[in-house]
Amino acid sequence: MRKKIVAGNWKMNKTLEAGVQLATEVVNIAESELNNGATVVLCTPAIHLSAVAGVLKSGKKVSLGAQNIYQKESGAFTGEISAEMVKSVGAGYVILGHSERREYFSETNAQLAEKVNLALKYNLTPIFCCGETLAQREAGIHIDFVKSQLSESLFHLSPEDYAKVVIAYEPIWAIGTGVTATSQQAQDMHKELRTHLASKYGKVGENTSILYGGSAKPSNAKELFSQPDIDGGLIGGASLVARDFIDIAKAF
Ligand code: PEP
Repeated sequence: MRKKIVAGNWKMNKTLEAGVQLATEVVNIAESELNNGATVVLCTPAIHLSAVAGVLKSGKKVSLGAQNIYQKESGAFTGEISAEMVKSVGAGYVILGHSERREYFSETNAQLAEKVNLALKYNLTPIFCCGETLAQREAGIHIDFVKSQLSESLFHLSPEDYAKVVIAYEPIWAIGTGVTATSQQAQDMHKELRTHLASKYGKVGENTSILYGGSAKPSNAKELFSQPDIDGGLIGGASLVARDFIDIAKAF
């Protein structure tokens, strides 16, 4: 089923104390104001997950997610964090393949396929990111490029496993830049991706939740979310302010 989801990506921001404070504010506002059935997720730095899990227990409307997992199950991978560990601290979601990880940590579609497998094995919902550079869009290859990101990391999945995946389309040129894709640009890509997913998975593919990410904020969320193929947002900067984040979640 196409769920309405707003997920916040805190990236590498906030001390533990500030993160707990932000999560507390988000829960308090969500509990008193959010009544539209939207699923709200906070994807915190890994080191904050346990503490934020404790905060989220005081309400029912906000879920917890990580920003990454490693592509191996366990072992001698100093500094890395496994899907099982993330699950064990109470998270239900994990962002995979964010463009910053693809760019700064050279994550490939093949590695991401392994991460998707492990996330699903440990009952984490992958929020699988895809998106093109401005150069790719200007060259007219953006649609094929983004489709290939999905095929190469997801199309090995059984329909049952695939059904648990959430997609986030994030044009790289719109992330953290203040430049939002127009609602029409976002809608056009989401429609292409939904058709692509349906060509592989039929009804299951058609029913994928596809989120938009890239400088979404309270002032543009309503228009973005009113597009027929946009099911919510992955929110960076605006998720660091509780009021703005929940106002985005209220925009459906
Ligand atoms: C993101 O990094 O996932 C993102 C969408 O960031 P921002 O909202 O700040 O553009």
